[in-house]
Amino acid sequence: MRLDKFICKSTSLDLVETRLVISQGQIQVNQQIATDAAMQVHENNHIELLGKRLFARPSQYFMIHKPAGCICSNKDEAYPSVFNAVGLQQSEQLHVAGRLDADTTGLVLATDDGRWSFSITRPEQHCPKVYRVSLAKPISEKAIEQLERGMLLQGESKATLPAVVKPLSPTDVELSIYEGKFHQVKRMFAATGNRVKALHRQQIADIVLDIAPGEWRALSQHEINCFS
Ligand code: URA
Repeated sequence: MRLDKFICKSTSLDLVETRLVISQGQIQVNQQIATDAAMQVHENNHIELLGKRLFARPSQYFMIHKPAGCICSNKDEAYPSVFNAVGLQQSEQLHVAGRLDADTTGLVLATDDGRWSFSITRPEQHCPKVYRVSLAKPISEKAIEQLERGMLLQGESKATLPAVVKPLSPTDVELSIYEGKFHQVKRMFAATGNRVKALHRQQIADIVLDIAPGEWRALSQHEINCFS
């Protein structure tokens, strides 16, 4: 990994502070001063900050119950970042594996382990995601058939993978999808002539949301292993 990333992972310094200590010559890699923040290092290298050996901390994995009105990014932009919205500190190194729209609520997985999040989001994984969808109009038999068969969305070259639809009431359904295209659920229902009024993610693979809105918790080893 990059030297600056290793230092962020092994100290409480943020990226700006890390780059400063590197440029000031405070970092040694294998007894040599290292001033290139992009230098590739390995956890087995002997890396010191002002003479003190650094060890990469273990990766972090969290479940967040995202409230509406925040975005799955580290920076506050038009909306607050989901990390600030739920009070998850020291989140600079974290990223979200599978974003939700600002108005969507529910399960968000966050980590600093890029390989782990890639194993969730890569299209070939066909990772199941379960949503609770509230619709503007009652769902029709024809719409269920379209969703379960797979449909070609505007601007896409391939049809969606077959989804699983469980009607809960005329205007509420549980929908399981096995990919994560941009605004996929809203676009799928729009293609059936309906409109999503509210969207909530309940589950990703075997990881089930079990905390209140606005809360977060560390994932268990069992949950982490779903994608390791
Ligand atoms: N599909 C959407 O349309 N929006 C989301 O936030 C997630 C899935």
